[in-house]
Amino acid sequence: MIKPQFDITDKLTFNVPAKSSFYIEVFSDEELLEALAWAQINNQHILLLGGGSNILFHKDFDGLVIQISHKGITVLNDDGRFIEVVIGAGENWHEFVLYAIEKGWGGIENLSLIPGRVGASPMQNIGAYGVEIIDVLKYVEAINISTGKLRRFKVEECELGYRDSIFKGREKGKWAITRVAYTLDRQSPLKMSYGAIEAELSSIPFETRTYKDVSDAVIRIRQSKLPDPAVLGNAGSFFKNPIISKVDFDKIHASHPDMPNYPQDDSLVKLAAGWLIDKAGWKGHDRVTHGVHDKQALVLINKGGATGGEIWILAKEIMASVKEKFGIELEPEVNQIR
Ligand SMILES: Cc1cc2nc3c(=O)[nH]c(=O)nc-3n(C[C@H](O)[C@H](O)[C@H](O)COP(=O)(O)OP(=O)(O)OC[C@H]3O[C@@H](n4cnc5c(N)ncnc54)[C@H](O)[C@@H]3O)c2cc1C
Repeated sequence: MIKPQFDITDKLTFNVPAKSSFYIEVFSDEELLEALAWAQINNQHILLLGGGSNILFHKDFDGLVIQISHKGITVLNDDGRFIEVVIGAGENWHEFVLYAIEKGWGGIENLSLIPGRVGASPMQNIGAYGVEIIDVLKYVEAINISTGKLRRFKVEECELGYRDSIFKGREKGKWAITRVAYTLDRQSPLKMSYGAIEAELSSIPFETRTYKDVSDAVIRIRQSKLPDPAVLGNAGSFFKNPIISKVDFDKIHASHPDMPNYPQDDSLVKLAAGWLIDKAGWKGHDRVTHGVHDKQALVLINKGGATGGEIWILAKEIMASVKEKFGIELEPEVNQIR
């Protein structure tokens, strides 16, 4: 049922006040198609919502918010080693990770505790601790918002990049993702070299370590560094790590030799946005209702009572300050609804 003047605040992990002119939660393609037809007839803009953990509303939304809540986990194929599994877009991502681990399916344990839903996982090619969705994605099923036609995007058609995809980039706002299929692997090697995973697992003999051990380690590390949205409003990393040319990098590195850097190839270098923000003096910055997290400068927080507009003003000041200090343009990772 379409609900008018709907308060969506508690559906957003940033916990900023926001209303939409209309709201509906859909659990099937049929319900989604009905909602899309309704929006067309009533001339309403459409915004798709998953778990609301990567989105900042600057103000109320003038249109229909459709929350995609398709459920279901179906094994398409299992050859004894590889499992092809298709999941409804509305399933909770972390619960799916735990389900896979329990079944002995490897490949996504490093992506434990990322908030949100399965449908948004290809949107920005979610990634953490050395693994990205591109490593396991098989296909995405999505309904075209204008035509209502269902299309299957093979992984190579999703144009996945660093925190990017065709759905966030070139075809932004055109597709409602309804199901996502992944290939998981019972013999997938454990990935423990990234961040502090190896140190977290040091008390467990190497040959006895399991997907669950890696997942537990990732969960502990994340809980020690990142604020829990249930306690402190946030949307994870607010900015992407910038990727700059080697030529520009060499110039900046000369005056900042301690700057963390990750060469991408011969010509591009990725930098740590959190380090740049910290060095520009913003880590722990406090504006009473909102600010910059004191353990991770990449995370902007709503301590309670901040509006999305106020958080965006802070974000713009941080971007200007990093630009002035290092000459580097930061780009938001979080989706902005203006
Ligand atoms: C504490 C914290 C930690 C985080 N850590 C990470 C991390 O380590 N790595 C990482 O990659 N991300 C991280 N994130 C960001 C976020 O969890 C992911 O981007 C997640 O995939 C967002 O899912 P969601 O369902 O909440 O999407 P939403 O916030 O609801 O939506 C995000 C975008 O996708 C669109 N969208 C959502 N569902 C659909 C759909 N079914 N069809 C079409 N469009 C859709 C929305 O319109 C919006 O533009 C973190 C966030 C938080 C709060």
